Amino acid sequence: VTSVSQTLEDVFGFKSFRPGQEEVVGALMAGDHVLAVMPTGGGKSLCYQLPAILKHGITIVVSPLIALMQNQVAQMRALGIAAETVNSGRSRMDKAEIWRRMQDGSIRLLYLSPELLAGERVLRAFERLPIEQIIVDEAHCISQWGHDFRPEYSGLGDLRRRFPKAVIGAFTATADQTTREDIRSRLFGEAPNRLFVQGFDRPNIKIAVAEKSRPEQQLLRLLKNEPGPQGIVYRLSRKKTEATAEVLQHAGFKALSYHAGLDSSVREKVLDRFLSEPDVIVVATIAFGMGIDKPDVRFVYHLDLPSNLEAYYQEIGRAGRDGLPAEAMLLYGFDDIRLRRMMIDGSEASEDRKRVDRRRLDALLAFTEATSCRRQALLGYFGETSMPCGSCDRCLDPPVLKDVSDLARAIFETMQQTGMGFGQAHILDIVRGEKTAKVTQRSHDRLATFGVLKAHDRRVLQSAVRQFYAAHYVEVDIAGHGALKLTDRGRAVLADGATVALDLKAHAEPVKRPGRRSAAVADPANQQLLVRLKELRLALAKERGVPAYVVFSDASLIDMANRRPRNEAEFMGMHGVGYKKCQEFAPPFLKALADYAQA
Ligand code: ADP
Ligand code: ZN
Repeated sequence: VTSVSQTLEDVFGFKSFRPGQEEVVGALMAGDHVLAVMPTGGGKSLCYQLPAILKHGITIVVSPLIALMQNQVAQMRALGIAAETVNSGRSRMDKAEIWRRMQDGSIRLLYLSPELLAGERVLRAFERLPIEQIIVDEAHCISQWGHDFRPEYSGLGDLRRRFPKAVIGAFTATADQTTREDIRSRLFGEAPNRLFVQGFDRPNIKIAVAEKSRPEQQLLRLLKNEPGPQGIVYRLSRKKTEATAEVLQHAGFKALSYHAGLDSSVREKVLDRFLSEPDVIVVATIAFGMGIDKPDVRFVYHLDLPSNLEAYYQEIGRAGRDGLPAEAMLLYGFDDIRLRRMMIDGSEASEDRKRVDRRRLDALLAFTEATSCRRQALLGYFGETSMPCGSCDRCLDPPVLKDVSDLARAIFETMQQTGMGFGQAHILDIVRGEKTAKVTQRSHDRLATFGVLKAHDRRVLQSAVRQFYAAHYVEVDIAGHGALKLTDRGRAVLADGATVALDLKAHAEPVKRPGRRSAAVADPANQQLLVRLKELRLALAKERGVPAYVVFSDASLIDMANRRPRNEAEFMGMHGVGYKKCQEFAPPFLKALADYAQA
């Protein structure tokens, strides 16, 4: 019998498990139903691929996106494992052939889209096969409470009954308490099952939040300091993705926009280029999400506020799966908050749902306005306690809280004097003493507070209003066209002179980080060799029609550049090199290494 750790080394080429993997593999091998919540890049796939190799029967993997399945299959095959995918894109003949191979036992892993596994005919056929494991990837899609509910996942709740002998494993990278419970009750019902929650921390992603002023200009400045130019920029609307992509193209970047309004063939092409070409920036709505199984995304920027922390964490989690340094920057302003509130209040959802959504938006704002470590705040939301990280913007540049009670009172009083019927722009016009038409028409220039905050920059006041909102001093009346209203807490400031402390230092400029490099990054002396190895990898990938990382991950190439194997035995010892990859790729890489040593 081949042992688990032997397979890890021989097939995958890995020396040890990542945190949590061994436990999940053990549980699945023992035949337990499992829900595993592991961070993106934590190595979820290996947790079920390894048992799939060792078990005798078939493993079915349900996955929401065709592109995702195709990538997984390509990676499995590169390791020499018989994997296939059936989805709506396959021809009848392909399907018949796959079916035949399933029956004669020559397929170990079958990737399937969820709607296929809900069809009665397919289910009946599968019931006659030795299905040993059913894996539900992106399992949060089954939950109505999750941020990405997919109706086609609903049918999966019946799997336990249909396949009583199969082990069910559910995997997700983001699920808060509510979502986890929902997944368990839907997939496992009363059946015993085990929950594994691996730490949510992604220490290689540096988290920062800044005030939005001119987002595209800010973006261009940010890109100057990037560790690598490939990344994702999230925007809220289709139009904005296109506009921002254009700005980047003008500045000489390889930028592409992606949103649900594009033709599916165009979308596929964008995804394809992002996965296979180096240095591509995708500017996208959240439609660009799952299926981005690319380990070397160097940054994820949000130029608009995401909907909640689950979504935010999932989105930034797409950066730095390879464990090398990556950046997450969120830019946002008061308008973003107003827009998000409007989207919640104006949606068709039930009152219950709206209440949950409002609470989640509040949690997001508590994070964006956090005065201490962002990572602590983010992990805390998922129920994890941690020390300050030392690498987020708050840790690097702690905020300085100042007593701004007079400023707060001037703004709150103006709101009260004007009957709380006006939005931020007008209120700020009054306190800054701007004689706009609206101000004079309504005689607001005769208010006692007219012009009292003249000395303050408008941006600083906007930041103050945003913080007042996040700290629940003021509310936005969505039904009343976004008018600012005082909450009880805000009224108390006027009534009993409670003090208000804020950080008014303008955070419009992203905090500069010291250019630290991870130990995993190749020694500078080996950079040139690394470039050479990357070229070779790209050529080999092109020949085979697969993304570059299917050949080798950056981590593997860095290991080769640093340790320079000279023969097959040494090559076999490189990170990510198992039997199959050694057989296929040792010759070209050993030659490239030898040529380099000679030159
Ligand atoms: P997830 O699906 O959890 O986001 P993946 O399964 O795609 O993560 O794994 C992320 C990366 O980590 C992949 O490149 C994978 O090959 C690598 N990986 C997984 N397990 C290990 C391990 N035990 N040692 C080294 N690398 C690993
Ligand atoms: Zn921190």
